[in-house]
Amino acid sequence: MVLAQLNNSRSSPCLREEISEAEAFLCEYRLVLCGGDGISGRECILVCEKKISRTSRLNRSIFNNPKGATGMMKKRKKKFIIAAILFIFLMLLVGSYMLNPQPVHAMMVDFSSMEERVEHVYVEPDIPVNMEDMILNDLTQSKERILEVFDGLQANPTILFVQSSKALEKYAQNNRTAQTYYTYWGHYIVVGPDGFNEDVIAHELLHSELRTRLMNKDKVPVWFDEGLATVVDHRYLRDESLNLDHINDLSSRDAFYEPSQVKENYEIAHSEVVRWFGIVGKSGLMELIEGLNQGGTFNELYKAIESRR
Ligand SMILES: [Zn+2]
Repeated sequence: MVLAQLNNSRSSPCLREEISEAEAFLCEYRLVLCGGDGISGRECILVCEKKISRTSRLNRSIFNNPKGATGMMKKRKKKFIIAAILFIFLMLLVGSYMLNPQPVHAMMVDFSSMEERVEHVYVEPDIPVNMEDMILNDLTQSKERILEVFDGLQANPTILFVQSSKALEKYAQNNRTAQTYYTYWGHYIVVGPDGFNEDVIAHELLHSELRTRLMNKDKVPVWFDEGLATVVDHRYLRDESLNLDHINDLSSRDAFYEPSQVKENYEIAHSEVVRWFGIVGKSGLMELIEGLNQGGTFNELYKAIESRR
């Protein structure tokens, strides 16, 4: 705006004075900003200087450095864009918190009354010491069970053990057993009082391990994810009489977790994955994961690996 006015002010006294081009430009610029029409070039500078001395530091820098004004506008634009992005991010965070606060609380566990007993393992302070010892022992044993399926542990989830109804509501969506939140910042396993045992803890740890090895992507059908988790969850037993032909009907979350079918679906998934894993073993599972990470298709890899054994 200011520069446009400069270009049009051909009758500016600045241009009539015997001053250098740079001085003339500066003079014109100051004239427009200071409103010094009707006075000569050198006078305008003097008038301007007086006005400048009364302006803010910000305005002074503009008067003294016309090119800086453009740079400053660019900087302001940049700051505005950054502020807008931060605002959108904040709104998304607030929105997700309003809709689903429990994962956000789990992520903020460091700022809660939960006590970190072992690295990344938090226990509600109200849990009695003897029960806490039992839980931590179950956790150690559960990690051993993961080694029945994988050669080592790569996942490093944050685990929260909660017992009170208040903590269950805060962290676990009132699920008294266990659930895992997969977030950009890591996996958060929340175990309730019905899950204080090796089966449940190992089950959730295995989900986290598989997800970590799959680079945090949904690359397997739900029946395989749950079936593999039940390999280390001894609440399930293989039932060879089950019909496993329609296992792929249980690939989606809606189909698998359909309330009237979910119990049977876990049994079907368990029986199918235990059958497959019994044939292909740890090496077959690793082959499957590597194939998926290289862009392979689950169904093709799953069948091909079994056929080669
Ligand atoms: Zn599960």
